[in-house]
Amino acid sequence: MTENISIQKTGPVLRFAPSPTGMLHIGGARTALFNWLYARHTGGTFLLRIEDTDRERSTPEAVDAILNGMRWMGLDWDGDAVFQFARAARHREVAQKMLADGKAYRCYATADELTAMREEQKAKGLPMRYDGRWRDRDPAQAPPGAPYVVRLKSPQTGETIVHDLVVGDVRFANDQLDDMVLLRSDGTPTYMLAVVVDDADMGVSHVIRGADHLNNAARQIQIIAAMGASIPAYGHLPLINGPDGAKLSKRHGALAVEAYRDMGYLPETMRNYLLRLGWSHGDDETISTEDAIKWFNFEAIGKSPARMDYKKLDNLNGHYIRITPDETLVGEVAAFLERQTPPRILSMAARTRLAAAMPSLKERAKTLVQLATGADFLYTDGKRDLDASAARLLDGPGRARLAAALPALEATDWSGPALEEAARAHAEKTGLKLGDVAQPLRAALTGTATSPPLFEMLALLGREESLIRLRAYAD
Ligand code: GLU
Repeated sequence: MTENISIQKTGPVLRFAPSPTGMLHIGGARTALFNWLYARHTGGTFLLRIEDTDRERSTPEAVDAILNGMRWMGLDWDGDAVFQFARAARHREVAQKMLADGKAYRCYATADELTAMREEQKAKGLPMRYDGRWRDRDPAQAPPGAPYVVRLKSPQTGETIVHDLVVGDVRFANDQLDDMVLLRSDGTPTYMLAVVVDDADMGVSHVIRGADHLNNAARQIQIIAAMGASIPAYGHLPLINGPDGAKLSKRHGALAVEAYRDMGYLPETMRNYLLRLGWSHGDDETISTEDAIKWFNFEAIGKSPARMDYKKLDNLNGHYIRITPDETLVGEVAAFLERQTPPRILSMAARTRLAAAMPSLKERAKTLVQLATGADFLYTDGKRDLDASAARLLDGPGRARLAAALPALEATDWSGPALEEAARAHAEKTGLKLGDVAQPLRAALTGTATSPPLFEMLALLGREESLIRLRAYAD
């Protein structure tokens, strides 16, 4: 394993420090994005640290999911990812140094003793906290060879202030914070110690993370002070809520970034959407990544929880689909189809048709899934199966109208304008509306009741292929 502890860093140093216990979720992705944006805005450094110290819950699959999620989001990190568990010896070393400096102490209290202490506190209605019973006791009083934990000798008076870039100063009375464990009795470092040592060793200047870590910041500041390291700037981001204002949960739909990819959202959309979820630039809704890098700051981060708005997400995605080059979209659709089970591989002919239809197709699609499924009629040759609404359009009278219109179409040079002109003239002659003529044609051509402009599609599929499809339903 390589470490980027010593890579060349310039400017502010930011990091994203996910725990690999599950997928990269939407809140984590936003945290990563804000850190990345600030690093890119300032010409600083953006580091990635995998906090895999919880051996029970950390999995290699989750590590992959996080790395892939970051890559898909386009959030590139500098140097190699740092794995926290691999640094346990260094964390222990720092705790030993704190012991030697008198900033930490050995606590020999047994589990039974601590349980009794807590029960007593509970019975008296006191907050349950370690009471510092070994803080000033001579370790010689401990039974020989007895196991111990190492605790921080934290300040007992005064207060610890977190100067938060988002929420302002948050004050914690020191007598409310007990002497936390740094090393467990088996010598493993606690999470609180590991985070602080890694941030210090990685030269992290700004810790930007979720609001659920605000209370940890006070404890972490105490450890940093005991280490003699410098305290980073903190910014705690308000949580993301569901559309109903309640904490975002599975019930609200997708939480994992991967799920958004599979639903057909573009990475650009996700960056813009997650940026706006908790950060603003005037009334701008559509913010390119380029502008986001130019404009990002901490001042404009919202102080209250943001709400997911799936409609906004869809509209934004429609925007990014429209401005994405046709060739890129063809590639995305092809990749999407290949991910299906069983995978669908587009022939060269299908790709060519897809590319030709893309300017029309992309006008109406809100997701790549809609784009891929809406273009289904371009991928295969021959008679189409009908969906329910197409079947309704091709009832008896519909088929008769289709059959009646065919000769007029066949007489054209099969160009879009000529086909449209012929259909119009035929409708007029027979006293029908253009739609009455066009809808059965569309149903037979595509198997659906909606499609990009019909005459364009007829021209695109060509005389031979179109006529095979139309004749298949013309009685
Ligand atoms: N590993 C923590 C988490 O995934 C983040 C810790 C931090 O950013 O300081 O919630």
